[in-house]
Amino acid sequence: MKPTNTNCIFCKIAKKQIPTDILYENNKTIAFLDINPVNKGHTLVIPKEHYETIIDIPEDLLIEVIKTTKKISIALSKISDGITIAQNNKKSGGQEIPHLHFHIIPRYKNDGLKYNWPTKKYKEGETQQLVEKIKNLL
Ligand code: AMP
Ligand code: ZN
Repeated sequence: MKPTNTNCIFCKIAKKQIPTDILYENNKTIAFLDINPVNKGHTLVIPKEHYETIIDIPEDLLIEVIKTTKKISIALSKISDGITIAQNNKKSGGQEIPHLHFHIIPRYKNDGLKYNWPTKKYKEGETQQLVEKIKNLL
C-alpha cells in the first residue's frame, strides 16, 4: 500500500482534495504555489506519497522530487534573477508540514531577502573529532 496520511494537508493536495495552484505534476510528484510566498512564484515540490523527511524517503523517489525541483527551477529562472532552494526537516529544522517538500524561491535583484544566520567558531581540534564522529555514522 502507498504511504498516505489522511490528516496531512500535502497528502490532500496530492489527491486534489483542496484547491491548490498546481504548476506541474507527474505520477510521482506535484509542484504548487506556496500560499504564503516569500517572493511571488514561491513553489513547493512534494512526492505524492507521504514521507516526512529526507531521511525517510526512498532514494529513487527523492530523485523524482529533485528532477521536478530542477524542472520548476529552470522555468522560474526565466522570470527571476536567481533561485533559492530550501528543505526543512523536523520541527527543530523548521519543518511545519511533516510531508517532505522542497521550497523553490525565485529571487530578484535587491529583493531584500537575506540569509543571515549568525555563524559559530570551532575550537582547536574540534573539527577532527566531529569529522570522525560523522564519518562513523555514514
Ligand atoms: P515548512 O516550514 O518548510 O514545513 O514549510 C511549509 C510551507 O507550506 C509554508 O511555506 C506554508 O506557507 C506552505 N503551505 C501550508 N499550507 C499550504 C497550502 N494549503 N497550500 C500551499 N502552501 C501551503
Ligand atoms: Zn502527507
